[in-house]
Amino acid sequence: MKSARAKTPRKPTVKKGSQTNLKDPVGVYCRVRPLGFPDQECCIEVINNTTVQLHTPEGYRLNRNGDYKETQYSFKQVFGTHTTQKELFDVVANPLVNDLIHGKNGLLFTYGVTGSGKTHTMTGSPGEGGLLPRCLDMIFNSIGSFQAKRYVFKSNDRNSMDIQCEVDALLERQKREAMPNPKTSSSKRQVDPEFADMITVQEFCKAEEVDEDSVYGVFVSYIEIYNNYIYDLLEEVPFDPIKPKPPQSKLLREDKNHNMYVAGCTEVEVKSTEEAFEVFWRGQKKRRIANTHLNRESSRSHSVFNIKLVQAPLDADGDNVLQEKEQITISQLSLVDLAGSERTNRTRAEGNRLREAGNINQSLMTLRTCMDVLRENQMYGTNKMVPYRDSKLTHLFKNYFDGEGKVRMIVCVNPKAEDYEENLQVMRFAEVTQEVEVARPVDKAICGLTPGRRYRNQPRGPVGNEPLVTDVVLQSFPPLPSCEILDINDEQTLPRLIEALEKRHHLRQMMIDEFNKQSNAFKALLQEFDNAVLSKENHMQGKLNEKEKMISGQKLEIERLEKKNKTLEYKIEILEKTTTIYEEDKRNLQQELETQNQKLQRQFSDKRRLEARLQGMVTETKIKWEKECERRVAAKQLEMQNKLWVKDEKLKQLKAIVTEPKTEKPERPSRERDREKVTQRSVSPSPVPLLFQPDQNAPPIRLRHRRSRSAGDRWVDHKPASNMQTETVMQPHVPHAITVSVANEKALAKCEKYMLTHQELASDGEIETKLIKGDIYKTRGGGQSVQFTDIETLKQESPNGVLWLWR
Ligand code: ADP
Ligand code: MG
Repeated sequence: MKSARAKTPRKPTVKKGSQTNLKDPVGVYCRVRPLGFPDQECCIEVINNTTVQLHTPEGYRLNRNGDYKETQYSFKQVFGTHTTQKELFDVVANPLVNDLIHGKNGLLFTYGVTGSGKTHTMTGSPGEGGLLPRCLDMIFNSIGSFQAKRYVFKSNDRNSMDIQCEVDALLERQKREAMPNPKTSSSKRQVDPEFADMITVQEFCKAEEVDEDSVYGVFVSYIEIYNNYIYDLLEEVPFDPIKPKPPQSKLLREDKNHNMYVAGCTEVEVKSTEEAFEVFWRGQKKRRIANTHLNRESSRSHSVFNIKLVQAPLDADGDNVLQEKEQITISQLSLVDLAGSERTNRTRAEGNRLREAGNINQSLMTLRTCMDVLRENQMYGTNKMVPYRDSKLTHLFKNYFDGEGKVRMIVCVNPKAEDYEENLQVMRFAEVTQEVEVARPVDKAICGLTPGRRYRNQPRGPVGNEPLVTDVVLQSFPPLPSCEILDINDEQTLPRLIEALEKRHHLRQMMIDEFNKQSNAFKALLQEFDNAVLSKENHMQGKLNEKEKMISGQKLEIERLEKKNKTLEYKIEILEKTTTIYEEDKRNLQQELETQNQKLQRQFSDKRRLEARLQGMVTETKIKWEKECERRVAAKQLEMQNKLWVKDEKLKQLKAIVTEPKTEKPERPSRERDREKVTQRSVSPSPVPLLFQPDQNAPPIRLRHRRSRSAGDRWVDHKPASNMQTETVMQPHVPHAITVSVANEKALAKCEKYMLTHQELASDGEIETKLIKGDIYKTRGGGQSVQFTDIETLKQESPNGVLWLWR
């Protein structure tokens, strides 16, 4: 059959960007399984084909003060207990397979409590094939005759595909089949009776508008995520019966298009539904064995079956596949049977298993969180980070939610009352997930080769021994009778001939009529076809216009963004300049600050030095005054001792007078003798009067001046107020004196002699008192003048601790 191609071939794998703003919400469906026993209590009711109602079962009502609640939940579609696998497939999975064949990705997962029918839905039960075998069936029905030879496509470890020509593929196939590996054998094998009734799908299902100018390859992989570890269920590990090795976990990686994939995961190329399901079953068996062996709770693991469809265009001749890797399109459909969504305590898991179960719940929890954040970001325009990386499960699904494609979830529920609380959680998750949107995938660009290549070079029209139409027509005419006239009187031949010819003519007429009828019908058909083509062209034109409009809109947007970019660049420039200025200012201020700091430091050290100096001076002065005090104390002591001695002496003399009037004078200390000598010397006349008369009790001192010539003169005794009271024994005694603190004329006029008591600090630090004496004369102007004539000096000296003792 040769078909006009409406659908465009796919483009090679490109990063799935947001070429369009169109988004679709995650399709969330609900499947309610039948009750285990008909008279079991039920907590879910299907209201209509989009709504279910949850109501609190009897037991829960008793616990919660008879509180009875009914809550309704809406879904894209609800499938009741009688829904067949086929019905479910047609609505939920068929569009995903259709997309897969047209190069678009899809994710389908089942979610629900253990026992709610997830596996029944995804894989199926005996006699009731689930979505997985049906998907496979639809894929192979659609691409069956366009499949590439085995090993034309080869998966590599970078999550992409290599391509090789058919000859190389054949050689590789021979090489592999020579090896004793039963797994790579041809698809024409006996179907395993264990699952045979799961894949015998009665209904024929096929994708629409399959690109016939491409060749296709199908690769499947099957992994299990348990306890946040990824295990490859198709990995061929030699089995060691003595020491069986535990399965090795796999790592997630990101390919160059930022798609997540399981590194080193086995991808098996399959050529038929039977072969693909056989591979799946092998994985399933391995999973069961591992779970039993390692004492795992199988309902706590997630299983992911990946169907990868690889397609590449035929070359221009339509004979061979185009050997250009960039032209390969890879699409993927992930079928996920999630772990039971129930909380850990329900499973009565213990120890290790509890921890593992907790982890598994953790990945479902992360899935829930991711949905929450995605929804929030999309609804409120926030940009919170979606925690995909928190679990392997969500990390693997990241591309489906961030990229483009279709995501569908089937929420499986068991209506039995015991599952009420868990089902409530399931419903809440479903509500959130329905509001998450995923970018709608766009059609990929055309590969550039003429459509219809596959059939162009195939022979058309009759071939071999097929008879020509004219031959057939001629054969349908009645044969002509013999027309040989041998006798002139032959009356039979001609009429028979005439009759045969007439018959033929009649037949011809009938055929002409039939031909006209047919040609008219054909004309009408052609007309119809023409119209259809025209309308298609119009439609295409419309679409083209739409696309052009979109392009011009995008151009405008680009211009706007460029302008905005320029403005922002300008702003950045200004900000940079401002920053430079501020930095300059900052530098200057810092310099100033440093200078001020240094100055402050200097001042501080100056202050410290000054303080030290002052301290030194204070200590010096203190020491000096202490010495002075000591000296004065010593002098006072000496004076007191002398007074004591004089009194003693007087007493002795008195005693002598009273008792022995002729007794000799007691011996005095040497100082007394000195005093007497001085007194003897003072007998000689002196020009000035003796002003210092020794105190009766004072110790003897040396006189330096002689007595005054005129003892009857009046004196002005000038003692400035600033003078200090000295402790000297010798005090000036001036008879008839007028004592003044400031010299005044009045006093001077009344007297003939003047004496100034002047104090000054001597070189040894002692106070020296000087009595400056003079004569007063009357001046011619009526004033007074003083002529200084003599100076008496009175000075104290420290006795250096020497005491005089008289006994
Ligand atoms: P899950 O995978 O969620 O733990 P299963 O798919 O294993 O649950 O289902 C548990 C049991 O219920 C299986 O025996 C299955 O055949 C049965 N079951 C589940 N859903 C349905 C359904 N829609 N119709 C009939 N039987 C079902
Ligand atoms: Mg299950």
